[in-house]
Amino acid sequence: MTFELDSTQQHLAEVVRDFASRRIAPHVRAWDRAASLPDELFEELASLGLLGVMVDPAYGGAGMNLTAMTVVSEELARVDASVALAVSNHNALVCGQISAAGDEEQKRTWLPKLASGQVIGAWALTEPKVGSDAGNIQTRAAAVEGGFVLNGFKQFITNGHRAGLYVLFALTDPQHPHRGISAFIVPRNTDGLLVGPKEDKMGMRASDTVPLTLENMHVGSETLLGRLNEGFLDALRILDRARISFAAIAVGLAVGSLADALRYTQSREQFGHPLSHFQAIRFQLADMSTRIDAARLLVRRAAALQDAGRTSTRESAQAKVFAAETAVAVCTGAVQIHGGYGYLKDMAVERRMRDAKFMEIGQGTSEIMRMVISRHLLGRSAPERPGSPPPWI
Ligand SMILES: Cc1cc2nc3c(=O)[nH]c(=O)nc-3n(C[C@H](O)[C@H](O)[C@H](O)COP(=O)(O)OP(=O)(O)OC[C@H]3O[C@@H](n4cnc5c(N)ncnc54)[C@H](O)[C@@H]3O)c2cc1C
Repeated sequence: MTFELDSTQQHLAEVVRDFASRRIAPHVRAWDRAASLPDELFEELASLGLLGVMVDPAYGGAGMNLTAMTVVSEELARVDASVALAVSNHNALVCGQISAAGDEEQKRTWLPKLASGQVIGAWALTEPKVGSDAGNIQTRAAAVEGGFVLNGFKQFITNGHRAGLYVLFALTDPQHPHRGISAFIVPRNTDGLLVGPKEDKMGMRASDTVPLTLENMHVGSETLLGRLNEGFLDALRILDRARISFAAIAVGLAVGSLADALRYTQSREQFGHPLSHFQAIRFQLADMSTRIDAARLLVRRAAALQDAGRTSTRESAQAKVFAAETAVAVCTGAVQIHGGYGYLKDMAVERRMRDAKFMEIGQGTSEIMRMVISRHLLGRSAPERPGSPPPWI
């Protein structure tokens, strides 16, 4: 297993870094304040192939692998984690699940639109009463002549405001919660799909997050994505992949904060010396750098497993929890190093600290990641404390 990027991936990193510094960096503060991203940004992302990174070229995508996706996520997140989150969910979750589970007709209909940015995708599993225990969703899809009728609620759906397409999960067999869930591809203009207002968030503000209401929403049987009652199993497989791209966002956040901290410690003087002369500061910078490298290596290992066609449930969870906690530690440390100035809204380190906290919550919290890892260590048959969640996590 090699952890070096190949020449194509290195080129990709340079292209995305250049784009992010020219076209995103000047606007990050304004987009964070406005809590939105402009439409033109998505057009430009599409023209660079960043909205169909892993989509088969036969359907208009760039046909790259998951390691390449982590490069995109890290490079975008160095500058703006909200953009990286929007792009990562669209690619890794929505394009990912349609590519993996869709039939030929669904792929032909939707992947070219997603890869070209004509349609942005959202992936809707979480519900108001069900987050970590995702196998217990309550949204129902009742079978009717020619299709299904969906009723229920979704919560915290990234890209949900902008999306033209939703991958939605609903119970098709209420007798068997996690083994009775199916996935559906639902276009935005479907009658009965109500998109709620944007949530007012602590961080990741420019990435839109909305609730959805499904009210007697009729969909045809052609919207079923993958096999009936196997949607949740597909979701778990997709999350094993998407968490790696998500972890790369955390790495990017930490890299951006360390770069700011390095610059600041060499320009700010106290006690007659630059901050970088003080050992306490130097050691902090050293620890930040070491944690970032370790996080990136975990990301690359998990991506390499996926790219080799192997499973990576434990490795994805390890990359995700370690990278998320690295992002929080490094981004918080960077604020500390900036002193009072780090506490001002004008500073990028302030925004990154808010953005970083989300990395410990989204796509499975750090507690859930530890649950996944420990189950792999101990085996599913090992007794757990009463009240432990069921084994589908
Ligand atoms: C900005 C944002 C964007 C999001 N985007 C999406 C999206 O696009 N699509 C989507 O489907 N979802 C999305 N989510 C939802 C996200 O995945 C959930 O918030 C997350 O999985 C946690 O679920 P919850 O918020 O319901 O917390 P809960 O599950 O209620 O957990 C609350 C706390 O209890 C802990 N906990 C729960 N169970 C256990 C246990 N057994 N042992 C120990 N601790 C436990 C959790 O770790 C957490 O700390 C998003 C969330 C946010 C905030």
